[in-house]
Amino acid sequence: MESIPVVQLDPNHAEQTNATIVTGHAQVNGKFYVRLTHGVYQNLRRSISWPLITLFFAAVWIPWGDHPLVLFSFSERRIFLGPLQLSWYDLPLLAGLLITGAALLFFMAVAWGRVWCGFACPQSIWSWIFIRIEDWTEGSAGQRRRQDTRGLSASQWARRISKHLLWLLVALATALTFTGYFVPMRTLLPELAQWHIASAVWMWVLTMAALTYLNAGLVREKICQHACPYSRFQSVMFDADTRTVSYDRRRGEPRSAQGDCVDCTLCVQVCPAGIDIRNGLQLACIDCGACIDACDKVMNKIGKATGLIRFASEHQLSGNASPLIRPKLLSYLLAVVIGATAVGWGFSQSSGLLVEVARQRGQLYTERPDNTVCNDIRIKAEGLIADEHLVKVAVSRPDFELAGPGNIDLQALAGQWLNYRVCADHTEQPATPLVFTFSLGDEVVEKPFKFLTYHR
Ligand code: SF4
Ligand code: SF4
Repeated sequence: MESIPVVQLDPNHAEQTNATIVTGHAQVNGKFYVRLTHGVYQNLRRSISWPLITLFFAAVWIPWGDHPLVLFSFSERRIFLGPLQLSWYDLPLLAGLLITGAALLFFMAVAWGRVWCGFACPQSIWSWIFIRIEDWTEGSAGQRRRQDTRGLSASQWARRISKHLLWLLVALATALTFTGYFVPMRTLLPELAQWHIASAVWMWVLTMAALTYLNAGLVREKICQHACPYSRFQSVMFDADTRTVSYDRRRGEPRSAQGDCVDCTLCVQVCPAGIDIRNGLQLACIDCGACIDACDKVMNKIGKATGLIRFASEHQLSGNASPLIRPKLLSYLLAVVIGATAVGWGFSQSSGLLVEVARQRGQLYTERPDNTVCNDIRIKAEGLIADEHLVKVAVSRPDFELAGPGNIDLQALAGQWLNYRVCADHTEQPATPLVFTFSLGDEVVEKPFKFLTYHR
């Protein structure tokens, strides 16, 4: 980033310091100070992020039957999503859901750039929470910069310590809530309070808290720039019709002269990524729209039309029309529709009774002295129906003998392999088709099986 001699960074706190000044951002020891702003896009961001934050913290507390609204239970080997109960067998459906989500993300990236990053990504949302706490405890960006360059007084030290304590508190609450998605809160909190929790859980909570504190408090935009693969994908997905946050160079330049840009650097001071959008589209830009809001306020003040910085495509900026319907956009939309349909169909087909039937290893059949032949098999059953726990096992041919538990009690034997033996007269065909039927309440699952015997 090019260094330019900007003296007055913050009109409210105009003052020259010994800080390095980089295109509008004062940097002290490599740290820049994000100035908060208001406007249409900041309101939009808040109206998206607050419901998401509320849902994140509330979902582990809202009861749904015997469980919280969302729970990934390792002990029960179930995923509870409101009325839906998924087993680990349904993980492909969750994978399908993630792939559909990725296609939706790509669709948004082609249409509007990194709006997900700027408006809904947890990394951005938590960074804004931490920036807000910083502003509340230590003062505005200009005040914080002056404190860092002059040194802290006793009261400023107290404010700084309180900032870090609040950050730690939010980080701990985040880590506990996140853990609550795997261990129900009503179990987790009492066990934590009584120090009865496994040391692995403690380590997990503390690691998550430390990562949240580091990510949102100290590292922030560097995660987006260096650790998130999405910032790399964007250059592949963007095209000349992608409407992303852009500076209208034709209108703004030359700055502080005939152009509309008055070079106040407010768009740079409010940028959480620490960049100057006037230098063109950059990898670090998360499309949060803060620079649009800041610049629109300046334009309103000087009586010029807003939109010097706006969501616009390369074609629009060069004065050409940008079509709304584009093949690339349509193909991603098609992928979203196909993915959502397939996952929806998969959910509608998922059963409340899960059964596996497998032949015993190393054995095709056994002959008995009474001229019968037997196949040894293993059966495993799991159920997702709360009130039912007895699985009835039957075989399609009444003349076949089935040895093994006629009912599987899921309360005692869910997920355990049980040994069965199915026998028939030796005159049966070498690969006789059979069907095992399993019933749990109204759920019926049929499993085909080939009964093996010898060639006569
Ligand atoms: S350049 Fe503008 S849209 Fe991009 S990250 Fe900075 S403030 Fe947000
Ligand atoms: S683009 Fe707008 S906010 Fe940025 S320096 Fe120019 S006038 Fe100021």
